[in-house]
Amino acid sequence: MNKSVIVILCLISLGCSNQSIDYELLISNVNLIDGTGKPMQRGVNVYINNGRVEKIDSVQIEQTESVIDGTDKYLIPGLFDCHIHTTNYLQDFSNLIHYGVTSVFIPGGSLCTNEYFAAMRSIGNQDSVPAPRVFHTSQHFTMEGRHPVKTYGSSNWRDGETVFFLTDTAQIARLVKQVAQYPIMGIKVTIEDGPAPPFVERIPQGFVDKIVVEAEKYELEVFAHASDNVEFLMAVNAGAQNIIHYVGIDLDWTNEEHLSAVNALLDRDATIVTTLVIDKSFLYPLHPEWLEVPALNEAYPVDELHEMITPQAISRAERIAEMIKQDYGLDEIAMEKIFLPQVQDIQQLLDQEMNVTLGTDAGNLFNFHGYSLHEEMQLLEMGGLPTMDILKMGTFNAARMMHVQDSLGSIEPGKLADLILLDADPLTSISNTLKINTVIKNGVVQKR
Ligand SMILES: [Zn+2]
Repeated sequence: MNKSVIVILCLISLGCSNQSIDYELLISNVNLIDGTGKPMQRGVNVYINNGRVEKIDSVQIEQTESVIDGTDKYLIPGLFDCHIHTTNYLQDFSNLIHYGVTSVFIPGGSLCTNEYFAAMRSIGNQDSVPAPRVFHTSQHFTMEGRHPVKTYGSSNWRDGETVFFLTDTAQIARLVKQVAQYPIMGIKVTIEDGPAPPFVERIPQGFVDKIVVEAEKYELEVFAHASDNVEFLMAVNAGAQNIIHYVGIDLDWTNEEHLSAVNALLDRDATIVTTLVIDKSFLYPLHPEWLEVPALNEAYPVDELHEMITPQAISRAERIAEMIKQDYGLDEIAMEKIFLPQVQDIQQLLDQEMNVTLGTDAGNLFNFHGYSLHEEMQLLEMGGLPTMDILKMGTFNAARMMHVQDSLGSIEPGKLADLILLDADPLTSISNTLKINTVIKNGVVQKR
């Protein structure tokens, strides 16, 4: 552990014999946005001991060592990305920490064997090498020739190790029992028919239903990968508790079936993960100027990024752009118009007290670990969501999805000290979350 030693000094201050405890870390006179949605508290001190926030006050401080001067700075909780994948976790984890993402949720991936999950968890559990805390599901439950194995061809997928190709609902009980031995948040079921033509067949409803029934026997939740209204309703009707994309779903608030689906989710204390940035990532090859943003280039060298724009990537982007234009009835792609309906739905869901969190699907092309979570927040702000709500979605709501809201997701006494110190106010513009001064995980300043 690279943690600074806890120094307990009995200081006898001049003219006063009070004992004062020196804290492992103290952030003084900072503007605090605690993640719960409570108004910003100006000029407070945040005291950290043993990796946790010990107290918060606004008195004149006496400690002089291990003090970070927070004057004119803003403190927010470490961010969660509730949907990432990685095939190179040492590199990707370091980038996540660089951009203030101190916890991630990984719903499977092409290398995700039980051993790979364990290795990621273990690096997430320490704080000397930059890495976020890792929460994850089981391997994908899907079928052969379906998403994502067929649509995102990779030789890494291995039946029984990184993915389960279901052929019969009778297999499901055994497979759920098998994965339930591991510290997973729940079962990942992939319903989707693919991101762009040519589409594949969806997993049948009966399979999704059975997965939910079996998962319940082990008190496991189901995390459904759905990315249109049909798949959304399939997931809800089966009884899934979590929808790990909102992109592609477009709720009709006058449609009885949609309204009862939303009510069903509210009843089961469900969570919806946004991942709107996926649509933006698809369009990157048509916008090379997006690769030149200085904040992106801090961790992703511009030359390497330009090399990713291959003729293949451009042609895929053009196909998807056509599809988006058709879906939204647009002549030209206009970012505001694409995201506005989705953000309005998200606002509506938040108004009904749905737990909605932020995710990116980073690990896919032009979807950057760490940086894209800030893009996600910018898209939500562009669509009109208040900055305070966006920050709460990326912190407190995410901890609620992981059922760790007692120890993470907000800056309050007793909670683990995962914090980001910003040089500018994220409430005036959410893009100020990229003006990162210091990232702290477990009370330890992280190397960026
Ligand atoms: Zn994904």
